[in-house]
Amino acid sequence: MQDRIVTLLKELVAINSINSTLSGGPGEKEIADFIHNHLRRLGFEVQVQAVSGARANVVALVRGKSPSPAVLLNGHIDTVGVEGMPLSFSLRQEGDRLYGRGAYDMKGSVAVMLALAERWVRRPPEANVWLTFSCDEEDRSLGTEFLVKEWLPALPARPGAAIFLEPTEENIGVAHKGFAWFEIEVVGKAAHGSRPEQGVDAILPLRAALAELDRIANELRSRPADVLLGHASLHGGKIEGGTELSMVPAYARLQWERRTLPEEGPDTVDGESERVAHAVANLAGGHEVKARKIFMRPPYRTPPGADVVGRIQAASPGSQRVGLSFWADSALMGLAGIPSVLFGPIGHGAHAVDEWVSLKSLARVGAVLSKVAAVN
Ligand SMILES: [Zn+2]
Repeated sequence: MQDRIVTLLKELVAINSINSTLSGGPGEKEIADFIHNHLRRLGFEVQVQAVSGARANVVALVRGKSPSPAVLLNGHIDTVGVEGMPLSFSLRQEGDRLYGRGAYDMKGSVAVMLALAERWVRRPPEANVWLTFSCDEEDRSLGTEFLVKEWLPALPARPGAAIFLEPTEENIGVAHKGFAWFEIEVVGKAAHGSRPEQGVDAILPLRAALAELDRIANELRSRPADVLLGHASLHGGKIEGGTELSMVPAYARLQWERRTLPEEGPDTVDGESERVAHAVANLAGGHEVKARKIFMRPPYRTPPGADVVGRIQAASPGSQRVGLSFWADSALMGLAGIPSVLFGPIGHGAHAVDEWVSLKSLARVGAVLSKVAAVN
């Protein structure tokens, strides 16, 4: 299997599939066509989903020997950019390490899925397997949103479980945090610095916002930690405002990110944002305050007792059950009612210039998934 993984990964890495929201990013259409052609030649029922513009998913059904609920495997086919990364689109092997953009996050896993498909042509798995390749994981998850909203409801039978092959160092990811982005804008009135009485300072009221965020951050640290995920947290994201040093600033904006735990509902973080807005509004000074939530993604915890966890564990006894620090598409699938976990290879440098994945680890991941699919 190792030879096929290297060959496939070489071809996948050679296709630039940088997320099109990033500089130099053409989107996923070309890599989706490559995967589509490869699976079609193998004889599978395969479909390219046009998600929007040059963004596309691929889904394929591998029919198993029995009609038990399908296992869904997922890999995202976009990558982050390549700035500062030499030879980013040509796979380089040094011992067990395969270097190249996306090798670890996560074209290595996509190569494993394709290599498994090749094996299943000759020896079909026990259960049906859905191979899903999604676009836009590195930005707003348009691909998995499409799968969840358009594709899943139209299926005659829902998959029984989903495995996201994100790099987990061969551990079983059973929880990850969510995140929410907030901002507060303060509008004042511009004036010359020599005549402050004619203006309304928009920057100074942010002190109340910063103090309130600091209080909230302390409260989060003082709550009991989640066993797998630690504490919920927040950090200042961006701050801007003012035009000239000699002017009273008419505008300021503060944005922050909150990382959420599975048991925290949206109301919790919305309430914090309101506290921040009130703290600023309650200051004297004549400024206006606007607060809003910019974007959010839910946290996720695999349902306790989900059968898929035991199946991976049985096939890979050394794997630990872990919480993951990053957000992943699995939350969207999980919250659509498909018990989801993450399981992927060992490597280093996701989003970094020295990204590599372990070839032996990719082969082990393939062997584990092959066993998982072999169990009815
Ligand atoms: Zn990833």
